[in-house]
Amino acid sequence: MTLLGRGVAGIAAAVRSKEASAREVLAESLAAIEQLEGELHCFHTVMAERAEAAAAALDEKVARGEDPGLLAGVPVALKDNMCTKGTVTTCSSRILENWVPPYDATVVTRLRAAGAVVVGKTNLDEFAMGSSTENSAFGPTRNPWDTARVPGGSSGGSAAAVAAGMVPLAYGSDTGGSIRQPASLCGVVGVKPTYGLVSRYGLVAFASSLDQIGPFTLSVADSALGLEAVAGHDPADSTSIDRPATSYAGLLEEGVEGLRVGLIEDFVSEVSPSCAEAARAAAEALGAAGAKVEEVSIPEVLHGLPAYYVIAPAEASSNLARYDGVRYGLRVGGPDVAAMNARTRGAGFGKEVRRRVMVGTYALSAGYYDAYYGQAQRVRTLVVEAFARAYERFDVLVAPMTPSEAFRLGEKTANPLDMYVSDVCAVPSNLAGHPAVSVPFALGAEGLPVGVQVLAPALGEGLMYRAAAVLEQAAPPAARGPVRPGGERRA
Ligand code: GLN
Repeated sequence: MTLLGRGVAGIAAAVRSKEASAREVLAESLAAIEQLEGELHCFHTVMAERAEAAAAALDEKVARGEDPGLLAGVPVALKDNMCTKGTVTTCSSRILENWVPPYDATVVTRLRAAGAVVVGKTNLDEFAMGSSTENSAFGPTRNPWDTARVPGGSSGGSAAAVAAGMVPLAYGSDTGGSIRQPASLCGVVGVKPTYGLVSRYGLVAFASSLDQIGPFTLSVADSALGLEAVAGHDPADSTSIDRPATSYAGLLEEGVEGLRVGLIEDFVSEVSPSCAEAARAAAEALGAAGAKVEEVSIPEVLHGLPAYYVIAPAEASSNLARYDGVRYGLRVGGPDVAAMNARTRGAGFGKEVRRRVMVGTYALSAGYYDAYYGQAQRVRTLVVEAFARAYERFDVLVAPMTPSEAFRLGEKTANPLDMYVSDVCAVPSNLAGHPAVSVPFALGAEGLPVGVQVLAPALGEGLMYRAAAVLEQAAPPAARGPVRPGGERRA
């Protein structure tokens, strides 16, 4: 078996025990990237030299007998909206094409401290706005299961890199599904943690009240390690939850005996027969493992999508005001400052970003604010209250993740609403700030992976992972990565 094939926990154990060196592990990762990147386009930047230096330093640390960390020698990829000091961070946008951050995001600092080796920065929809990675200014990523299909988005590069076995661990950001939806479409595990569990310091802001960073992995156990490594209080993020970090690894064997599980039927009727069937089968699998399973209707969750598509653009229009050509990023000159601003933003932002800025600015403008932004916030409160009622009766909820299997490149680019609907089952967790995971659970009618979602109340990651671990055991191994481009299984 390759070193990469051992996964996050296996690699860290091998490096720690000196059975393998971090440099050997990295060499496998770089070779896989070299071999597959041309077909998939997962990366904007591969930091081979820096990664080699980091791996060598880690091997020396092990040789000196020092603790190499939870993620010793684990090659990691980061969505290119997380700041890396000295390495360009583009957000897949022309406006930041050459921007080199002067500081590291907190997750990057924590990953390095945990012994992870950062190998590169992955493709995304521009500023994380999209569900297919086709909104990248630098070309789409392809789904390794079928390169004519999208990997999902916006964290498509990270999801596909893990699915193709280039790295065992990658991070994305999830504002309205951008970790879970691509995880589902690529047959990997993707987690959106509780809002405030992982620091957003150094994550380029899209919609600050919704954004959260989380891991992509091939297994649930690896996901738990990947989350543990980056979670915990950070004074640099004022929304960071001030409580000690938890370890989830010890919980995974606990099972779901006696847990109360609700299957959200409102979502089941919104998705394709394969995706609905996967969610029902997942609920049954939890029942077979001893959980008390019931169907539950939470009709408010279906109002999540329209509320999200007001709130997220409103926050984005404010956050993206900083790209004005003055302090950083692209500048296109003009006769006066206003012309310079307008030309810079017109040239630097792609179509979807401009659409969001216009929608958001409109929703926040005097005279319309209450009718749009205020109304969306009231709907958000209804969703929060509906979840609160549901969690009086249930420990965790189960739902489909996506409306369909991976769609073809170009299939949804003509109509933005078709694309937006991809996240109907995802956005309520963001509106509520709750954790949720997509677990690969089935192969659908088109032969592509289908994920199932487990939702939990705030800081319910432990319960979420327990249910996810049971689902992983019940799922056919053929439904998850790694795969080579074309869907060929990897050894
Ligand atoms: N697809 C959603 C959007 O386009 C979610 C994006 C995200 O979670 N970053 O806004």
